[in-house]
Amino acid sequence: MYDLDSSVELLLQPAAALSKGDDNIWRRHHFVWKQPETWVPQLTAWLLPHFRRDGFRRLKPGRFRDLCWDDFEWRDVLGRCLLADIDYHTDQLADVLDRATLRTYHGCRTDDAGSYFREGLLVHDRAHMTARLRSIVEQNQELNWFAPRLDAAIAEIDNTLDIGRLYVVAEDTFLLKHAAHYLIYGSEWIAAVLGSTGRKVLLKSGAPTLLEIDLPLRVATPGTLRELSAKLLAEWTRRACNQPDWHAPIDFSFCLRTDIPPDWIVDHSHPAELNDPLEQRRLYKAAVAGCAYCSPAPE
Ligand SMILES: [Zn+2]
Repeated sequence: MYDLDSSVELLLQPAAALSKGDDNIWRRHHFVWKQPETWVPQLTAWLLPHFRRDGFRRLKPGRFRDLCWDDFEWRDVLGRCLLADIDYHTDQLADVLDRATLRTYHGCRTDDAGSYFREGLLVHDRAHMTARLRSIVEQNQELNWFAPRLDAAIAEIDNTLDIGRLYVVAEDTFLLKHAAHYLIYGSEWIAAVLGSTGRKVLLKSGAPTLLEIDLPLRVATPGTLRELSAKLLAEWTRRACNQPDWHAPIDFSFCLRTDIPPDWIVDHSHPAELNDPLEQRRLYKAAVAGCAYCSPAPE
């Protein structure tokens, strides 16, 4: 039989040692979306004073609700339990999240991930990318046919959205499953200019690489923090009610307009198999499993 008191106790226990309703709970707090134990207790403690007197009776923690993980209704479920409007609490959380640091991810292709640990992750510089593209075309004999068309191909791909920007994501599952072309080909712009035949030369060097970045959330825009706040509150509610053993695979990007310094980059890995979204999701198997940084050539 459902026992509300013991379900509430189970929900509150991980937050027992944390200061309740304290905005500073997020100060220098490091969390990982896909490791809920790194943020659910903090959010429980932060939310607690905002609950109505009968809030937990309304929430019914531990009782399964038949809602998809990405259903907007999760926020409404929580909204009915809190003292003020859910939008108010979403804004309040967004305002304090900029004190915390979130583990984020970026996909690329490189033969030396060490360059990111030395130089950081740089925003898209079109002049630099164009020079790199020209050097790729010059150095690959199989692109001789393409060389005379290069300027026209560059002019045709007039996407300027990425210039001066870079993207990291809050959760790598979606990136690896649906946007693996960033890891398979590297620059999306260079792959687009080379086209379906030419881009195959990009597979000849480097390895698909997933970078892990500890992103201080103060660099995110207020709008992005509000979206993140909404995701956290919805997922918190889903976890409180359904007690799932899996995390929500959110598609969540941070668009940054400044370079990421080297000391925010904390790890890297080389996924061996990916589905290529540019080739009807065909399975791509990486030819090499490492780079100069993690598998240096023997002297
Ligand atoms: Zn490596």
